[in-house]
Amino acid sequence: MKAAFFKEHGGADKIIYADYRDPVVGPGEALVRVKACALNHVDMLLLDGRFPPPEGLPHVNGCEVTGTLEATGAGVTGLRAGQRVIIFPGFACGRCEYCLRGERTVCVRYGYLGAHRDGGYAELVKAPAANVLPLPDEIAFEAGAAVPLAMLTAWHALVAQAELRAGQTVLVQAAGSGVGSAAIQIARLSGARVITTVGADDKIEFARSLGAERVVNYRTQDFVEETKAWTGKRGVDVVVEHIGGDTFERSVYALTRLGKLVTIGSHDTHWGRLDLRHVYSKNLRIIGTNLGSIVELQTVLDHVVQGRLRPIVDRTFALADARAAVQHVLDRKNKGKVLLLS
Ligand SMILES: [Zn+2]
Repeated sequence: MKAAFFKEHGGADKIIYADYRDPVVGPGEALVRVKACALNHVDMLLLDGRFPPPEGLPHVNGCEVTGTLEATGAGVTGLRAGQRVIIFPGFACGRCEYCLRGERTVCVRYGYLGAHRDGGYAELVKAPAANVLPLPDEIAFEAGAAVPLAMLTAWHALVAQAELRAGQTVLVQAAGSGVGSAAIQIARLSGARVITTVGADDKIEFARSLGAERVVNYRTQDFVEETKAWTGKRGVDVVVEHIGGDTFERSVYALTRLGKLVTIGSHDTHWGRLDLRHVYSKNLRIIGTNLGSIVELQTVLDHVVQGRLRPIVDRTFALADARAAVQHVLDRKNKGKVLLLS
């Protein structure tokens, strides 16, 4: 098959589009012919070596995949060749203490499609059959590929972890990102009000169209001051943070008492300082979260079918142009998700 893979770490120029070993399905696995695969920031960490692929190089990125079922391994039932599918990207052992507690995203052997195994920047990809779900006919392959990581992670963070309620206020960092554009919509669906940040004025209208009430250009405005002004000095109930560093540190100052900061990524840096005085004196909660469950993915898909959530696709590239697609994301030009189409 053809794939866009890398043999050494670096920038977009390390992506090679060429022949690659065909995935071979084992018992309990499914082979999917990729139609659309979304890019994510974790792809960039895998590529540049900040998060080296656990299985080593060469490696194929791509954790958000829709396509059609090509074949199944021994013992797989309930799937038929040719059907439209979406892949739930998290792998769990099902046997460790945390899996048995029902917390599969913190499985001690947890892994991601496109990270711990080769992913969807390819014509074919394999996954455990239990991770392969029907993609509803109402959802295009392109829209579906924006759901399984970005939208699901934002859903789990706001609904399950932060327990967001109607009438609360939320600061969503980086409206232009896949997670940000999803989080704004999910917060609005929950009845909350949203302030968000962008890095360029040409993303302000985009953020408003998703439902953000106030949009701050963090390059020219102070998002803490703007948040305080927007909430009458009170601060917000919830911050969705996925940047790290200074953004993480300062996000804490945007919270009101008993506020919650959900951290779901570290796009700039894995490190962030914490002003502990604010955390204990205001009884703040700093909540780490990743992905969500298959049941939550089905809930999100239902909302997409009903038109209550809209996967935001910025731009599509042919698989052969994966290098240009990666550069587009590295340049932060995207408003929503960037996809590769096979
Ligand atoms: Zn486990």
